[in-house]
Amino acid sequence: MCMETTPWEDAVNFHGHTCPGLAIGYRVAEIALRELGVHRAGDEELVAIVENDSCAVDAIQSMTGCTMGKGNMLFRDHGKQVYTIGNRKNGEAVRIAIKVSALHSETENKHQRVHEVLDLPEDKFCTFSKVALELPGMARLFKSLECAECGESVAESRARVKDGKIVCIPCAGEYSRGWSK
Ligand SMILES: [Zn+2]
Ligand SMILES: [Zn+2]
Repeated sequence: MCMETTPWEDAVNFHGHTCPGLAIGYRVAEIALRELGVHRAGDEELVAIVENDSCAVDAIQSMTGCTMGKGNMLFRDHGKQVYTIGNRKNGEAVRIAIKVSALHSETENKHQRVHEVLDLPEDKFCTFSKVALELPGMARLFKSLECAECGESVAESRARVKDGKIVCIPCAGEYSRGWSK
């Protein structure tokens, strides 16, 4: 039995539901893969820089293979509907900005909205341009230290100093999200 799933179905399975945000990410990934002339990344040659943490990001993870865990998806907390996907092999990247008008709709119906996003002509959906891939400190491996308070490991780059001792962020009493850059 051979049940081939489409990239859209894969994205829905990965994300857990169908939604307009996922449809945005699906189109972004489709455009990026086409413009870069590549397929889903088997290894880490592709890199995605996402400027928000919406549902769209999951479609991009599913379709490009760029994930947080592999370190080839970088989250920049700008609250912008902008996605840059690049190829580390040749330094080529495409920066995709979703048009403000594409984010607004007359319909409240989620199913209709998904189809609106998927069917929107590309020039009404986004603008995109080729850019050079700039990746300071990609996938760096940081030394692990032991927190003086809880004894758990903390990456050197994220460690804090409290009363002269090296501690992790929770023990330092910082309650930010921690992982935004
Ligand atoms: Zn969603
Ligand atoms: Zn700690």
